[in-house]
Amino acid sequence: MPQRPAFAKWLDDTNDVTATFLAAGRIPGLVNLGGGLPGTEIWPVEDMTKLATSAVADHADETLAYAPVAGLPKLRDLIAARYSEGDLTLTRDNVLITAGGAQALNLIGTVLLEEGSTVASQTPAYLGALDNWRPRQPVYRPMRLEANDLDPVAAMTGAQFAYTVPNFSNPTGKLVNAATRRRLVDAAHHTGTWLIEDDPYGTLYYDDAPMPRMLTLSAEEAGAPYDGPVIYLGTVSKELAPGLRIGWIIAAPEMIEVLKAAKQSADMCTSGLCQQITHDAFATGLADDMLPNILDLYRARRDALCAAMDEHLPDLFTWERPTGGMFVWATAKDPALDTNRLMEVGLEHGVCISPSSVFDPEGRDHSSIRINFTYNTEDKLVTGIERLATATRAALAE
Ligand code: PMP
Repeated sequence: MPQRPAFAKWLDDTNDVTATFLAAGRIPGLVNLGGGLPGTEIWPVEDMTKLATSAVADHADETLAYAPVAGLPKLRDLIAARYSEGDLTLTRDNVLITAGGAQALNLIGTVLLEEGSTVASQTPAYLGALDNWRPRQPVYRPMRLEANDLDPVAAMTGAQFAYTVPNFSNPTGKLVNAATRRRLVDAAHHTGTWLIEDDPYGTLYYDDAPMPRMLTLSAEEAGAPYDGPVIYLGTVSKELAPGLRIGWIIAAPEMIEVLKAAKQSADMCTSGLCQQITHDAFATGLADDMLPNILDLYRARRDALCAAMDEHLPDLFTWERPTGGMFVWATAKDPALDTNRLMEVGLEHGVCISPSSVFDPEGRDHSSIRINFTYNTEDKLVTGIERLATATRAALAE
């Protein structure tokens, strides 16, 4: 066989645990609490079928040809209008359409990271971001955004960028409070460091009104097109359908131009067909009409999961009830519990969880687990938690 691909070197470094829990979702009979999937019940199949049909029949020029690299102008305009508020004025020049948030993270790595660059990152961090940036071997400066002793200026000075998921972070499900958002924005202005606001869960607030976006907080002058330090990432994956593979980057026009050049060589353009469907799902009101039902479904699942955890896990884990998003983060009460091992024992008992090691840039944290509550029915969530309690006792007894 010819030479081993250079990229394989980075796969060797990827935690084995990642491969195990990503593959586990396909085991029959297993309750998968480990993935980050939406509930499939949310999909409006009939409405989407109509939009897909009309996208081809009525817009063949846009959907069957190569689309412009930066995205269909009407979708960029629509995104710019949806996010413009208060002092934040956006135009299409502030918007790049991507193949989901995943591509946005990849492009950011391409244009901003060199070998060994410093990244200030909320910790624990989204696995997909860590995986995307692994080939550049960044040095991570952890930011514990829930801690009161955070000094964002120290963390961000000299970093290529700061990475955050302020709304219901993946993996912890926690919110970054308004004061910390403000401090991060001030630190970005002060240090001249890009501040990434990765926001797939920003609409999934179950109990309270949404907090201000850092993108909005960082706008300095009403009327002038946005030119600030925040690079905002949005996606349809959690509120419409991940299969569309549509996301967007909102940033200063100069940054959009650089990211666009990287996208040009990556894939020429995002599917025009999927962009047209997404445009129409927003323009017809379908996406906004779906949201209350999604929130009701996920709120009920969050409640069922937390009730089952209250019943079966209080002697084994501590956790906070999330007020939105898709995840509960639970930390073992007994520091002797290795959650990498718990994942394996869990699979033997028919339940999959994600262990904390995969969300730690160093892979060292074995204390906690991420539990998803959006994908499974309430009954399955209860079964999954019962199995998790049994598996945890078995792992502790080893
Ligand atoms: N960022 C975070 C924090 C996520 O949780 C996800 C999805 N799991 C993404 C980005 C990427 O999502 P997508 O590519 O489906 O838009």
